Amino acid sequence: MGANPLDTALYTLREAAGEAGLDPKVTELLSTPKRTMEFTFPMRMDKGEVRIFTAYRVHWCDALGGFKDGTRFTDNLTLDECKALALWMTIKHSVGGIPAGGGKGGVIVDPGELSEWELERLSRSYMRHLPLKGAWVDVPGADIGTSEKTQGWMLDEYESIVGFHSPAAINDKPTAVSGTLGTDEATGLGVYYVFEQAVKDFDLAEGCSVVVQGFGKVGSVLAKYLTEGGYKVIAVGDIYGAIHAADGIDCVKLDQYVRDSGSVVDFPGTKPISNHELLEMEVDVLVPAAVQSVITDQNASKIKAKLVIEAANGPVTPDAEKELQGNNIPVVPDVVANVGGAIVCHFERIQGLTDEYWDIDRVRGQLKDWITRAYQNTAATAGEKNISMRMAAWVNALQKIEASVKKRGWV
Ligand code: NAD
Repeated sequence: MGANPLDTALYTLREAAGEAGLDPKVTELLSTPKRTMEFTFPMRMDKGEVRIFTAYRVHWCDALGGFKDGTRFTDNLTLDECKALALWMTIKHSVGGIPAGGGKGGVIVDPGELSEWELERLSRSYMRHLPLKGAWVDVPGADIGTSEKTQGWMLDEYESIVGFHSPAAINDKPTAVSGTLGTDEATGLGVYYVFEQAVKDFDLAEGCSVVVQGFGKVGSVLAKYLTEGGYKVIAVGDIYGAIHAADGIDCVKLDQYVRDSGSVVDFPGTKPISNHELLEMEVDVLVPAAVQSVITDQNASKIKAKLVIEAANGPVTPDAEKELQGNNIPVVPDVVANVGGAIVCHFERIQGLTDEYWDIDRVRGQLKDWITRAYQNTAATAGEKNISMRMAAWVNALQKIEASVKKRGWV
């Protein structure tokens, strides 16, 4: 298995396909994308010169529904990265019970170098040149480098092209243009709902202590809900450092502190620790919510948490997971724990298609039902087959996709 994210995704696919007893033809079908699109478009910059941008969109498998998911504007975007993420989204949608296929794409660009006008022109140009799009075809959402703002422009461009309103054609758009409530908190809140269920299952709920690595869009929301839920968050870290308080950190106040100061470092009432110490603390639940590959074969043997919940994508490497399993430390995998964002994107599409817009209690209530079901289905399969929860999530996802592929008569 190489470092290429596509190799990692395909490795997991093959392992899970074996465990699921998948028809080899279905495995073959799922091992390549349905289509990849690489295209270029010219755009006039503010100073008058024309720049040619390269863009991608990958459609992996649409057995369960139309393609859907993020758009990256990053200067190091690769086609393989889009392929890996499109495959992951195919699995994640299936795990989350979402009737959608996996799509991913974006533009090779550093958005930080663009003016506001250039960013708007780029978002609109991407939409104009994207070969296949629409509510029943492919629904691009936001990802790294894109935001509610870019998605609003993309929706407006799409509607200008087709000549009618079509709010379900774009996800992660502002509520003022028919977006959904709850987008900002969806992933972190979803992790919280999974956490609540998992600590009950593993008998950790009473006086449960938690460590959260990462205090960004996902980690900060989760940490706030943990504090409000009465759990004891004893340490938190970000890229600048980490903090510890044995009696617990008030993460609602910490959130305001981070908004003002830019980091968790030096939050009053805490003592500084290193990011290594953070991960290796004596704690009930460890939630990596920052970046990939933070628990590796280098530090897996030092992890003392009783349960790991992957809020980030791929924070535990496959080798490390085997070591954790050997030490009886279960891992709730990313495809389950952080599927909340994808679930609320599906709610956004439902609202756009019906033109009936939900209040926040309905969004939260439905999110809780959907993600708790995804977690329970995964835990049940893991128990029945005596396999890891990651393998169980992939097995369930692949079997659901296989059933659709076969009934459609594709293989
Ligand atoms: P973010 O950029 O908002 O926040 C990342 C946080 O991690 C920041 O606090 C940052 O300081 C910290 N961090 C970065 N590098 C670090 C390092 N080397 N060591 C310690 N801390 C570090 O990102 P986010 O949107 O919160 O996403 C976090 C993770 O969750 C990513 O893996 C992302 O792919 C995944 N994820 C995010 C969403 C979403 O809706 N935002 C959905 C699914 C998965």
